[in-house]
Amino acid sequence: MRKSPHHVSRTVTKSRTQQRTYPGQDTAEPLVKWLNRVGTGDLVELLDTAERYRKLEYPESQTKSKIAGLLKAKINSILIGYKFSPVVDRIGHRWKVEWCARGSNVVDAWVFLFAIDLAERGLLHKLKRCANPTCGKWLFAGTDSKRFHSPSCAVKNFHSRDEWKQHRADYMREWRQNPRTKSRERRRR
Ligand SMILES: [Zn+2]
Repeated sequence: MRKSPHHVSRTVTKSRTQQRTYPGQDTAEPLVKWLNRVGTGDLVELLDTAERYRKLEYPESQTKSKIAGLLKAKINSILIGYKFSPVVDRIGHRWKVEWCARGSNVVDAWVFLFAIDLAERGLLHKLKRCANPTCGKWLFAGTDSKRFHSPSCAVKNFHSRDEWKQHRADYMREWRQNPRTKSRERRRR
């Protein structure tokens, strides 16, 4: 049975199409698609705030606990607007229960619940923007080292780094000063 988008399963299944899956990947993939298509609203604000919270320098400081309180209040004020009910999908020794969003904003409710599911499993930080500053697309970083949404963004970023620019400048200077290059240039004139 194909799941309707407002049913949320808390079971992580292995994707058949990909060889390697990471915890949370099945939950995150539709979220990444949604973020890259819509890209605004409560969820983006939540992710940005969560990121700011993570990057605070002093984990035990008062500021951090104050921000945590504000973040918690904000999330709960959004959640209160959504309606969910549990739905028993399968009974047996182990029952399978899913949450079903109701009302007019089922898609928003669904993506929000998916994000919270990731947060509960300590995986929310893996949902992030591509590190290429000119891109801005979202990705799910299965490994901590994954920073770009595509190989082309990684290449672009590498070429825009200062060390790379310096390396190219040095290379070009050496190339121009090379006697063989000079004689070739003279012949061309
Ligand atoms: Zn990118």
